[in-house]
Amino acid sequence: MTLPNWRIGRALGIPIHVHASWFAVFFFVTWSLATGYLPDTLPGLSVPRYWGMGGIAALLLFLSVLLHELGHSYVALRYRVPIKQITLFIFGGMAHMGKEPPSPRAEFLIAMAGPLVSLILGAGCFGIAMAMESLFSQPGVKGLVVLGSLLGMVNIQLGLFNLIPGFPLDGGRALRAGLWARNKDFHRATSQAAFVGIGFGIALGLIGVVLMVGAWSGFLSQSITTNGVWLMCIGAFLFAAALNHKRQAAPRILLASVTVRQVMVHRSVTLLPDMTVQEAVDQYFVAQGYGEFPVCEEGQVIGVATVRDVQALPTALWPRRRVREMMRPTSPTLCIPPDWSIMQAMDRMAQTGFDCLVVMEHEKIVGLVTRSAIAQYLQLHKA
Ligand SMILES: [Zn+2]
Repeated sequence: MTLPNWRIGRALGIPIHVHASWFAVFFFVTWSLATGYLPDTLPGLSVPRYWGMGGIAALLLFLSVLLHELGHSYVALRYRVPIKQITLFIFGGMAHMGKEPPSPRAEFLIAMAGPLVSLILGAGCFGIAMAMESLFSQPGVKGLVVLGSLLGMVNIQLGLFNLIPGFPLDGGRALRAGLWARNKDFHRATSQAAFVGIGFGIALGLIGVVLMVGAWSGFLSQSITTNGVWLMCIGAFLFAAALNHKRQAAPRILLASVTVRQVMVHRSVTLLPDMTVQEAVDQYFVAQGYGEFPVCEEGQVIGVATVRDVQALPTALWPRRRVREMMRPTSPTLCIPPDWSIMQAMDRMAQTGFDCLVVMEHEKIVGLVTRSAIAQYLQLHKA
């Protein structure tokens, strides 16, 4: 989405953004209520009154979508999953999670919280509208009853629609949580749930096309056309989003199934911290042709020196600087066990900015894993 979006406020500490496409749907909802739904259900009011009520209803619908997203966000935050922002756009809302949920249970509860909020809101609005209708008989109350029932209906639709079990809809996330819990493979579960999402996307799109053709050929009422177009757009959106997730999951399934041990460079040659950079270049980097070496002192890894660190140092300083001064000192984040997946290793590289990690087993170096070695492995395996 390249259109701009604006920040309109904050809730639960999360910035709320409105995407430019949202204004199109806001105008469309106001227009269709002011010119169709409201004059049909509440005849005899002035045109500005219909537009005013339409605008208020559209704003309340926007608030409903926001509350749905805040439902997801509240549970996510309880599981320490950060929410970067909530964006409202043409097809509703989206809470952007800063990382994947920690467990299938967390995923399931985060996914279900949104539809639960919508269904409760829907039932509440219907209840209030029905109570007002039976308790008050003034003509002014009729407008509130119509608005209440409309909000009730839309919230219940919002809740039920999102329960469709096609990823990335909420129901699809719940499905992923179930598959993840059963097979213990997050990325495979994403791929499978997204496959179901692709199916639902196609089905919704086809239903939309059938409704449109039915309305145009006169079998169905003309007012169905809008629903048809809308369903077709939502189907296309779901299809594209699910396909995207499925494609992203494919290489991750491979990355998660290959271990560091399979790609690591078995290397026992190490540098001494007190040799000069010149000696390291001549005797190791050039002589052995490797781009990185662990630095060891008394049998302990104390850092890693890479060709990039050497390049960052002016040549004139090579004879005067020690390896100790240019290496990256070890930290717990630099060392990983050999049975980690290369996915985990790549995540660690991305978090720390290191191109190279030391593989340790039983407190001994067993090898090094580098970004280029992983890239080469993936290239050879055509991923
Ligand atoms: Zn949702």
